[in-house]
Amino acid sequence: MLVKFVGVGTAVEGTQSCIVLEGVETKVAVDLGAGCISKVDKDLDAVFITHNHSDHNSDLIPLLKARWLLGYGELEVYGVRGTKAFLSSVLETYSYLRGKVKFKVKELRRFRVGEFDVEAIPTKHSIESQAYAIRDGENCIVISGDTYPIEEVVGYDCDVLIHEMSLPFKHETLDHTTPESFADLLDLCKAKRIVFVHLYPMARKVEREILEYLKKRRDLDYRIAREGEVLRV
Ligand SMILES: [Zn+2]
Ligand SMILES: [Zn+2]
Repeated sequence: MLVKFVGVGTAVEGTQSCIVLEGVETKVAVDLGAGCISKVDKDLDAVFITHNHSDHNSDLIPLLKARWLLGYGELEVYGVRGTKAFLSSVLETYSYLRGKVKFKVKELRRFRVGEFDVEAIPTKHSIESQAYAIRDGENCIVISGDTYPIEEVVGYDCDVLIHEMSLPFKHETLDHTTPESFADLLDLCKAKRIVFVHLYPMARKVEREILEYLKKRRDLDYRIAREGEVLRV
């Protein structure tokens, strides 16, 4: 499976959240934040939205519009409870797109898209949010979305854990991840590789310190994803 880090930024800089997973016959995007539309392939089989914050979903309507203009078929959109209502309300405003953009929203805990078996895992954020565990038969990748670190995600039995690291040391938050809150769950981690995304500028400034700190707490393979980077899993 190929993992393409189309967008690893936050609401304040960079291309916002978008990770594309490409199998032999299946291509899906996890989140479509602002700025990713010009960089993402339009022929996706499905989109998995972690939560309805604009830095994770705002290029979904542009993608649907592009697919309508290109003559593509219906897009499957998976998301948390309320995703259907969210899209309906956006289309109230963009009334010219109603009936033209083709999509079906599914709010499911387990589902299959092509060769991918997927499980949605509820997470801990300021609004309803979920991580995705995606399995292709050989490997399993977990993508956290925005969350305070939780056992169900960090301890998930997977090969690669792609986790947010929004904030640097000494930040008090229950909605996002800091090096300390992530380190608290490190003993549970089963992933062989851990890749961090969604670093706010304050965290980006101390990237090296974050990686060194985690390495000292537990010697695993950590890295911070770069925009445009491709990982083969
Ligand atoms: Zn968020
Ligand atoms: Zn975010």
